[in-house]
Amino acid sequence: MNIRHDIHLHTTLSYCAKESATPENYIEIAKKKGLSTIGFSDHVWDTAVSPAINDFYEGQDAERLLSASLPKAEGIRILRGCEAELDKNGVLGLSEEAAKKFDYVLCTHSHSQHPEVIDAKVKKDPKKLAETLCDRFSLLVEHPMSKYITAIAHPFFPLGNKDDFDEVLFRISDDRLEDLFNDAVYKNIAIEINAAAFASLPLKSIHKSEMFRIYETAKECGCKFVFGTDCHDPKIYDERFSYLEALCALLEITDEDLCPLVK
Ligand SMILES: [Zn+2]
Ligand SMILES: [Zn+2]
Repeated sequence: MNIRHDIHLHTTLSYCAKESATPENYIEIAKKKGLSTIGFSDHVWDTAVSPAINDFYEGQDAERLLSASLPKAEGIRILRGCEAELDKNGVLGLSEEAAKKFDYVLCTHSHSQHPEVIDAKVKKDPKKLAETLCDRFSLLVEHPMSKYITAIAHPFFPLGNKDDFDEVLFRISDDRLEDLFNDAVYKNIAIEINAAAFASLPLKSIHKSEMFRIYETAKECGCKFVFGTDCHDPKIYDERFSYLEALCALLEITDEDLCPLVK
């Protein structure tokens, strides 16, 4: 299957993105790659829920994303999404009112780079972190707002531990993963195949990683999928996209495995 969408793109509305990460530049990329759907999923903490949890989320309000205009491009569907956060107390930083206005919502459970999201002590303890990732996945799936969650962004990829995450992931059993993914299937929440989660691994050996086992298990459970490069810099787009193509082939993803939003 050829990948025809990418719904995890960060534009300059995310403070961590490069200046060149403009919607227009992504449209040019989409044309070259033959994508028919792209989605901007900038970071959000909706102040209708509570004040921003830290400096990173300060100013990353839902209204700001929703009021930004979307360019048009012939033959390409352009969606306004967001990447929503779950704080360490289980508070989801997105109100129902705002969630309804986005075309789709990506939610993450694994931003271990923020101590307000995953405690610094937990981050340093692989065993506790593995448990916490599972518990937080479950919190999202069981959340009162779960019906607004389109997909879990970079599942089980602890961003603050990007150099040693296999050490964390091997502690999560297949059985536990199956329980969690079965719950996601039941709640109609898709799983994002995220290129950034594999970016530190050589392309040729991604299938040997613990991260790949996670996705294999999701596929076996019948999860629906969306693709996302999680690109913050158009310069690295080609490299990120090559990981998605490899994952699509290795996991034997077909149109039937895709979330309805991106079909
Ligand atoms: Zn993220
Ligand atoms: Zn992201």
